[in-house]
Amino acid sequence: MISYISTRGGGSPQSFTDVLLKGLAPDGGLYIPDEWPQLSTEDLRGLSGVPYADVAYKVIAPFVGSDIETPVLKRILSEVYQGGFSHAAVAPLVQIAPNVWMMELFHGPTLAFKDYALQLLGRLFDHVLEQRNERVTIVGATSGDTGSAAIEACKGCKNIDIFILHPEGCTSEVQRRQMTTIDAPNVHNIALKGNFDDCQNMVKSMFGDETFRNDINMSAVNSINWARIMAQIVYYVTAAVALGSPSRKVSFAVPTGNFGNVYAAYAARQMGLPMKRLVIGSNRNDILTRFFETGSMKTGSVEPSLSPSMDIQISSNFERYLCDLLGRDTKNIALLMKSLKEKGAFTLNTDVMQRARDEFDAFRCTDEQTKGLMKACYAETGYILDPHTAVGLNAGMQVREDPTIPLVALGCAHPSKFPDAVEAAIGVRPELPPHLADLYERTEHLTSLPNDLKKVQDFIKQNIK
Ligand SMILES: *Cc1c(COP(=O)(O)O)cnc(C)c1O
Repeated sequence: MISYISTRGGGSPQSFTDVLLKGLAPDGGLYIPDEWPQLSTEDLRGLSGVPYADVAYKVIAPFVGSDIETPVLKRILSEVYQGGFSHAAVAPLVQIAPNVWMMELFHGPTLAFKDYALQLLGRLFDHVLEQRNERVTIVGATSGDTGSAAIEACKGCKNIDIFILHPEGCTSEVQRRQMTTIDAPNVHNIALKGNFDDCQNMVKSMFGDETFRNDINMSAVNSINWARIMAQIVYYVTAAVALGSPSRKVSFAVPTGNFGNVYAAYAARQMGLPMKRLVIGSNRNDILTRFFETGSMKTGSVEPSLSPSMDIQISSNFERYLCDLLGRDTKNIALLMKSLKEKGAFTLNTDVMQRARDEFDAFRCTDEQTKGLMKACYAETGYILDPHTAVGLNAGMQVREDPTIPLVALGCAHPSKFPDAVEAAIGVRPELPPHLADLYERTEHLTSLPNDLKKVQDFIKQNIK
């Protein structure tokens, strides 16, 4: 049975539910499975034509082990994936050119791929908390997409209170309204007078305040939670199988920020899914592309781009891949991460980099190129790309030396989430899908608070159940 170890080697092996609730390992490392469960050629053949929820069970069950009983896990997966998504295929493929497909991951409640994992995470949390007779308070900071996906995931959960801080006046109107128009007694939006860094620092300070953290049983659903990665492996399998796997190899192109989504693709490959190329797209915040070019991971400053959900300085989940790349030498990982934190950089040797370049390709895309591709794609095919999706597709198109290999580009957000960028590129303002058509008329629920730790803590204490 699989257990989970920290990328930095600390602590003892943990079970799935412990890792689910803890998120980060106590030594600051990320949890990874101690081995990769395998999908055999026969297994993959058997998944052809199988509904998404059933593929999800096949992929996820070995990671969960005996922590959740089979009928319960099956019920949760079917509740999440046979009702919570607006397309019957859940993650449908749409062909836009010969052997080029978009995998649309925006059919969840908040129109970005984060729903595919967070919808499941909310249910898993609620189930495990119920069993343990516990209650948690989730506190998170968001600059946009993650906050609304987390709120949607937790709004119906009995054992969770959720507080999401966003910088007042700094998110797009669609993004703010997706968070603030949820009317549920356990959901609290805090508009903080400050910027995104202030919000993040506020959450960190609260985690650092042990008394407060224990008082409210504080937790997080951030992008380093293993269960999010696990849930994202599923759609790589459904896409590959639909396009002929295991008889045919497929390439994937993934717009990348925190390295969560593309790491899930890597995990699928480790589990036995045949893959040709795995392509990373970065915007001008190109720490990953520079790493693959130079062999050095070197942080810079975050610059705003047309694809804001990828405006990051450090790709947290990269540590998980690094651990495999270095043969699970956890002592070495701890040293490299220390170097990244203290000196802002680490460098790998040429042998290691050769292996890394065999496994991934990476390309950057400027805002001009992003707009150019959105425009050309719309003109040639009528298909509207959101700016993040365009960054990934742009990267994928650069490795098309063999056009017989199907390319799947991940459609990470619905274009109506970024109407200004889309309108600037193609001259058409994309409309919100039917379930959100009245978003601009809905009542907002939010509390504006000063950038003051004590005041925010008091607000949280007064509002938890
Ligand atoms: C979160 C997000 C990304 C980045 O994904 P990572 O898993 O952090 O690499 C890309 N596009 C959109 C639309 C997102 O919301």
